[in-house]
Amino acid sequence: MIFQGKAVSVQMLENGIAELNFNLEGESVNKFNVLTVTELSQALDAVEADSAIKGLLLTSGKSVFIVGADITEFGDAFAGGASGVGALLARNNENFNRIEDLSIPTVVAINGIALGGGFEVCLACDFRVLSQDAKVGLPEIKLGLIPGWGGTVRLPRIAGLDVAAEWIASGKDQKPDAALKAHAVDAVVPADKLREASIKLLQRAVDGKLDIKARREIKTSPVPINDTEALMAFFTTKAFVGQQAGRNYPSPVAAITSMEQGYKLDRAGALEKEQEQFAACSATDTAKSLVGLFLADQAISKVAKGWEKKSDKKIERAAVLGAGIMGGGIAYQSAYKGTPIMMKDINQAGIDLGLAEANKLLSKMVERGRMTASKMGDVLNKIDPTLSYDGFDDIDIVVEAVVENPKVKHAVLTEVESKVTEDTIVASNTSTISIDHLAEPLARPENFLGMHFFNPVHKMPLVEVIRGSKTSDTAVARTVAYANKMGKKAIVVRDCPGFLVNRVLFPYFAGFSMLLRDGADFQAVDKTMERWGWPMGPAYLMDVVGIDTGVHAEQVMAEGFPTRMGKTFTAASDIMYEAGRYGQKNSKGFYNYEVDKKGRPKKVATDESYALLKPHVAEAREYEADEVIERMMIPMATELARCLEEGIVASAAEADMALIYGVGFPPFRGGLFAWLDNIGMDKFVAMADKYADLGELYQPTERMREMAASGEKYYA
Ligand code: NAD
Repeated sequence: MIFQGKAVSVQMLENGIAELNFNLEGESVNKFNVLTVTELSQALDAVEADSAIKGLLLTSGKSVFIVGADITEFGDAFAGGASGVGALLARNNENFNRIEDLSIPTVVAINGIALGGGFEVCLACDFRVLSQDAKVGLPEIKLGLIPGWGGTVRLPRIAGLDVAAEWIASGKDQKPDAALKAHAVDAVVPADKLREASIKLLQRAVDGKLDIKARREIKTSPVPINDTEALMAFFTTKAFVGQQAGRNYPSPVAAITSMEQGYKLDRAGALEKEQEQFAACSATDTAKSLVGLFLADQAISKVAKGWEKKSDKKIERAAVLGAGIMGGGIAYQSAYKGTPIMMKDINQAGIDLGLAEANKLLSKMVERGRMTASKMGDVLNKIDPTLSYDGFDDIDIVVEAVVENPKVKHAVLTEVESKVTEDTIVASNTSTISIDHLAEPLARPENFLGMHFFNPVHKMPLVEVIRGSKTSDTAVARTVAYANKMGKKAIVVRDCPGFLVNRVLFPYFAGFSMLLRDGADFQAVDKTMERWGWPMGPAYLMDVVGIDTGVHAEQVMAEGFPTRMGKTFTAASDIMYEAGRYGQKNSKGFYNYEVDKKGRPKKVATDESYALLKPHVAEAREYEADEVIERMMIPMATELARCLEEGIVASAAEADMALIYGVGFPPFRGGLFAWLDNIGMDKFVAMADKYADLGELYQPTERMREMAASGEKYYA
């Protein structure tokens, strides 16, 4: 053994070829944490000192190659400002330069995903051989950053400016065929041939049959492009990338700027420019939020995995009751992810609709080449449509998704309970009705809970798993395990009106209703909130949810929390509802809806809704953007704080991720609690107190006031 560490080792193979292997002890993946970076430097000392080594093969001892930097270490580095960031970058840049400058040839065998720093180390090698099962990419922009270990320097020199700009600004993983076509890798081989092919290639380089010098020259010199071409390329790319990313996500443009500033320079100069751009990005709120979000996402996955470990039994067969919008979506998702599911309805028409929906989604995938026709057949075969309960005695979980009516649900739930085994979990997809209330007539309330999917099921990542007061841990564990298997993000919450997501969404809508009552223009509010980062403003969102559904949920919330959410005036949503304007579903709500060229609904402004609102609202007036944002966000924030304080949700991270995954809260803000931490609770409380006359939803909780006084934050 030439070098043996806890993350990196070097050993001699045959013919003077040494293998540098990444295999981080105690972890399921390799990443560039401080330990790996330090050991890589020590391993390179050993390689440089050993004259018997004629060629170096880089490999991984895990199923992945290297997933990138260790993001848990970013917080400390970023807290150190430019010098902290500089130190984070310098050490590995030095490592990668040393790899590139070794007196011997280098080949990397990329066996699994190589992302971020994991791909940047590959770019430093002379040759890259990729397994057919692997992927590469530079996803740093997803964290509001840019590649910092030479990605914006080496990729444009190896694969060209266009490829580098596209890969880095999109942050997407690249499949082997794309990587080969872009010349970002030199060969793609079947997984079982990777090692042999890589060693063979290295041997040829060792034997002097390949020109290493020329390759290195390209990577360390300016990009061979003339000034006019470059000017045009960077100008148009920056404009395009900037427009795609939007002003809230500055890092894609920073990545292009790094290339623009560095393309004429040598390696050292270009790396310096990259470091400057990286440091600037790392100081933005966007990067802080997105890094925080990444960690919160890991935290919720860990909680969900924890539940899964507690599950005593796998869900092998499922059933869904009701083949409507939601039932059809649940059946599709379950089957698509491999769990066979019975889909029961009382109407053949319902079943036909549910199957047609699944068919449509699968056909689209086949059309786009993302699924074979035979796999589509397999998925469809996993959905067993039925009008009877035959076979329900062999089901592990039933998800009820019939109409949102407590009486109907009580009847259906008691009926299904008599058809399944004593061990079957019964879940309801209700969006508003209390789980404890639904459990009342049940013989086995311990097996009953909420499993609240969001519409459209195949797209929306969140599932709220709602435990009633009698729900057992076993029921929660099996349901979370099923949600995990369906590829969903499960968050366990306690029962209350609206559960977590709707409980905080409706106060936001209440803020909207009050703004309209006081003379605000709904289109202006939509624009402001969209600029703030919401994928759609509140009027548009209500139209998409369905105004009838919204009004019904508002009533449930008002009954549950009369002092905060009870209605004291005729809200805009009630006016739309009374006029039969239910939103996108019947092509008229706050907006009217037309069908665009692609057959999708397109909103268009209409005077009809303004005319309906006019008699019920104050004289039109213009509101400053800040006031609109404050009046919309304060009710949501105070209600979310209440949910955490009441234990409806267990942690700030789970609450933040639920809103991001469930209703599209702007990710670059890191979550609602992260946003509160960012502005500071003292400032938030002062902001809320300005609106005290708007009612209880604008009143911070006592705990929030304590936090304001002590400077405490939700995230330590
Ligand atoms: P939907 O009206 O599209 O579908 C309901 C289906 O249930 C219909 O096909 C109906 O024939 C069937 N049905 C009625 N009684 C039945 C019975 N006894 N046995 C079997 N099937 C029966 O409704 P949806 O929008 O899919 O909503 C279903 C549930 O999901 C509701 O509780 C709703 O609150 C909840 N939910 C809806 C959304 C949404 O955006 N649509 C989102 C989350 C949760």
